[in-house]
Amino acid sequence: MTQAILVINAGSSSLKFSVFRDGGQGDPVATINGQISGIGTAPVFEAKDAQRQPLAGKSWTAGEASDRKALLAYLLDWIEERLEGATLIAAGHRVVHGGVRHAAPVRLTPEVLAELDGLVPLAPLHQPHNLAAIRALADAHPDLPQVACFDTAFHRGQPWQSGMFAIPRELTDEGVRRYGFHGLSYEYIARRLPDIAPDLRDARVVVAHLGSGASMCGIHGGRSVDSTMGFTALDGLPMGTRCGAIDPGVLIYLMREKGLDAGAIEKLLYNKSGLLGVSGVSNDMRALLDSADPHAQEAVELFCFRIAKEAGALAASLGGIDAFVFTAGIGERSAPVRARVGDKLAWLGVRIDEAANTANETRISTPDSRIPVYVIPTDEERMIALHTRDALAGRG
Ligand code: ADP
Repeated sequence: MTQAILVINAGSSSLKFSVFRDGGQGDPVATINGQISGIGTAPVFEAKDAQRQPLAGKSWTAGEASDRKALLAYLLDWIEERLEGATLIAAGHRVVHGGVRHAAPVRLTPEVLAELDGLVPLAPLHQPHNLAAIRALADAHPDLPQVACFDTAFHRGQPWQSGMFAIPRELTDEGVRRYGFHGLSYEYIARRLPDIAPDLRDARVVVAHLGSGASMCGIHGGRSVDSTMGFTALDGLPMGTRCGAIDPGVLIYLMREKGLDAGAIEKLLYNKSGLLGVSGVSNDMRALLDSADPHAQEAVELFCFRIAKEAGALAASLGGIDAFVFTAGIGERSAPVRARVGDKLAWLGVRIDEAANTANETRISTPDSRIPVYVIPTDEERMIALHTRDALAGRG
């Protein structure tokens, strides 16, 4: 029997979705991708097929019944008409935080949802929206099983040192610790890499997930050892609008000398910093690379410098480095950023092959590069579909 799995990635005002078909052999295949944007104001629904051809579009005015429950009911009805004989078996959700407890995806029940509510203070900008979509879907379709797949889960097996801040133990016990994020992306890369390079199955690999959110992870034998994001998705690399690692003394300065409260600091560090803050031009890497503004060039240089610096730190956590992987928007598509990072890692023996890099080939290092460098497109949605299928089959 062909099965279908709905994958949902819900944000504050948008909900991205994919429909996967699973014939029981190999990986599920995405057949429909789309999103509902403008949730809370004037929602717009768009869907495309696997060839990126538009399948449907619809918009709602602010006055119409367009709350999350109504939108998800509409989405489910629309999907059910396009299943072509397949049976929708479940919805899998990307959920940002699984706390210390969840090292694997979990089938959602009211009890699990209540527990995940308790993690909202740890991820106030994302977790409430993830959970709101789960609740709205449960209201609209109570019989459809739902599975939560966590961005933190892949990192749960890290050595304790990677997860601990040097702060009073009571705070650590309360959950103030390093969790790491982008776990579904890293898990997908860890699973995919041995298909591309079988000799790297047990290797020490540094993966750079460079999207509008950016982080890096040290993986050994398919398991996360250390990562650049910590308690929140603010730590580590500078990102589109997020600051990345910062001396906590800066926060004290902002409070004491500038009179900023928690909300103002949050806005500054999440929305006005990173590439946007440094360049004053844009949060988009393409715009910065095209800009002649020296501050835009500085933003690109700082981004690449910090990636190289974190690569060194992660290599130390791993006790060495056997391969480097670029993924996500910038990692998959920006040859100039990859070339610059490669140059900065020349001391490790990295040599980038200019032609292969410009052509976005899978392996972009020269044959004599001491460390092979790969570009591997990530697929968090497929990872969620796989986990959802496994969780339903009791293999979670
Ligand atoms: P998200 O983190 O939101 O999922 P993506 O992984 O899709 O985002 O990455 C989005 C970012 O990728 C954009 O902000 C843009 O800066 C960057 N990007 C996309 N294409 C290119 C490109 N050809 N060159 C440089 N940067 C790119």
